[in-house]
Amino acid sequence: MTTLEPIYTSDDINAAVARLAREVRRDYRDKNPILVGVLKGCFVFMADLVRALDMPLETEFMALSSYGRGRAKTSGQVRVVHGLRASVRGRHVLVVEDIVDTGVTLNFTLEYLSRRKPASVRVCALFDKSAARRVPVPVDYLGLAVPDCFLVGYGLDYDERFRYLSGIYCLKGDG
Ligand code: 5GP
Ligand code: MG
Repeated sequence: MTTLEPIYTSDDINAAVARLAREVRRDYRDKNPILVGVLKGCFVFMADLVRALDMPLETEFMALSSYGRGRAKTSGQVRVVHGLRASVRGRHVLVVEDIVDTGVTLNFTLEYLSRRKPASVRVCALFDKSAARRVPVPVDYLGLAVPDCFLVGYGLDYDERFRYLSGIYCLKGDG
């Protein structure tokens, strides 16, 4: 049997997104940044964040695969499924991550981006599972701390399920 244990409500998340947007806008309002989202999990956060930002910006997406299925952690082997189409050379880049867990994916993303010579790269992450970190990564704009359990909702899935939930839940049980 599986159960969903509530961690944050949609109100909690909306408040965190509004606060993040204020912080990002303060630093980027005249910079026309490129927000780079890592699919698929980021799409709900990205959509809410860009509307809360309400300032000139561009969006790009990349897709990475880390061979993790179900609740398995990343293998540490990250592969680019869809790379960036736009050039980021000389641009201010803000990486938009749903959740930072081991840090392997974000670390890979930051290396991938810095090879493309942007003017700057920072990270905005909605959820931080800091107890699970294996690779130290900088998170410049941080939403909410989450416990080290498998989370679903607000774009996060369990084998493609539960992305539509507006809150965030810990998935308990055998799936
Ligand atoms: P990391 O490389 O930091 O271990 O994990 C990054 C990616 O793994 C996230 O962008 C997300 O797609 C996925 N991930 C990490 N933790 C969770 C979780 O608790 N639930 C879900 N659904 N995905 C997660
Ligand atoms: Mg996933």
